[in-house]
Amino acid sequence: MRPDGPDTSASATERTGLAVVRNGRIVDPASGRDEPGDLWMRGGKIVDRPADDETKAATVIDAAGLLVLPGLVDLHAHLGEPGFEYRETLESGALAAAAGGVTTVACMPDTDPAIDDGPTLEYVRERAAGAAARIHPIAAVTAERRGERLTEAGELAEAGAVALSDAGRPIRNPAILRRALEYSRMFDLPILVHCEDPSLSAGGHMHEGSHATRLGLKGIPSIAEETAVARDLMLAEWTGGRIHVTHASTAVTVDLIRSAKQRGVRVTADASPHHLVLTDESLSAYDTHLKVNPPLRSKADVEALRAGLADGTIDAVASDHTPRSVDEKYTEFQEALPGATGLETMLAVVFTELVRPGLLTLGEGIRALSTAPAGILGVEGGNLAPGGPADLLLFDPDGTWTVDRASFRSRSVNSPFTGRTLEGCVTLTIVGGRVSYRRAEPDSP
Ligand SMILES: [Zn+2]
Repeated sequence: MRPDGPDTSASATERTGLAVVRNGRIVDPASGRDEPGDLWMRGGKIVDRPADDETKAATVIDAAGLLVLPGLVDLHAHLGEPGFEYRETLESGALAAAAGGVTTVACMPDTDPAIDDGPTLEYVRERAAGAAARIHPIAAVTAERRGERLTEAGELAEAGAVALSDAGRPIRNPAILRRALEYSRMFDLPILVHCEDPSLSAGGHMHEGSHATRLGLKGIPSIAEETAVARDLMLAEWTGGRIHVTHASTAVTVDLIRSAKQRGVRVTADASPHHLVLTDESLSAYDTHLKVNPPLRSKADVEALRAGLADGTIDAVASDHTPRSVDEKYTEFQEALPGATGLETMLAVVFTELVRPGLLTLGEGIRALSTAPAGILGVEGGNLAPGGPADLLLFDPDGTWTVDRASFRSRSVNSPFTGRTLEGCVTLTIVGGRVSYRRAEPDSP
């Protein structure tokens, strides 16, 4: 966008009048639309082109040379609040989201206190009101995420929970998960499962394999994930409940989900950008920013995840944005907490590593980042249809940028992609018709 051009979109943030994004290439996987055109907004919604006498008064946002995309929907992020504000707040997490083109974030309940009852969930929703992105809480499956006593799914659904999850903790007792799946059917909430058998993963720091052996680090075997995936899929099949396998990381996980889908099991799945791009081989320098859970797996696993994304077995890409403080990362590899930030890099990583090389079309990539996760969560957005919220972003496919710690909006800087040059820049993010992020012009101060 030209800083000296007719763009007065900042004023569109202050009023709810008519605005138009002109001359961009509109890509909307929900409708199959991919063409040059104008996109009209009014009152926070996308609208049809109004009558000629009205259009002259519209605020114009020039999108020449840019892609106009539905705002991304991230179904797995940790936003720190309440309890871990030194890592992230709802406000800083939303700013990070907006900078990455993410207009809707589902935040995990592993806060302190955990989001496991109506009042806590309402507190988060109130704190998140007016943030730079829409934030929808995911509520815990069990009280305090202890895996013992079910939360009140009805009360949580009523208060606005978009899913249930014990976030980072597997539900060890299958009878608890069975009951949770049965209850969640009544409220049509998906249960997001972190699939890990702790008795198989205990004490591990990276993927079990020859690289772990060489580095002298105890491994986390693939089977620690796969037995849990198999069990959870069987429980979903048995109960008819909806399950979502988050951060799938192994080839066998992809196969298990593929065959469950063929049998009609109500399962969806996501993979994180780092699992789609990085392998255990990249840990050779003991870089703690590459320590994540589940761990970075083998090249064959990465290829299977990519194939699963391409054929729709993996429905979505989710950031698993996990901010960590400097103290939590700058320590010995064995001591460092797992987790990586991802909201600000997710789109450019997918564009650079999957769309540009032709593994996914642009439409498939945006579907996985926006349309599909909106559908899984049952939230508005994920498309550019008139009547829906004006949640969108402008993306410069020819821009490049180097991931730099100093540029993060997140309070944490534990990105595994720092120093990488990525293709494609978010130039403007709009949430409900209001500008929530604008990329600084390269020559502006
Ligand atoms: Zn997570």
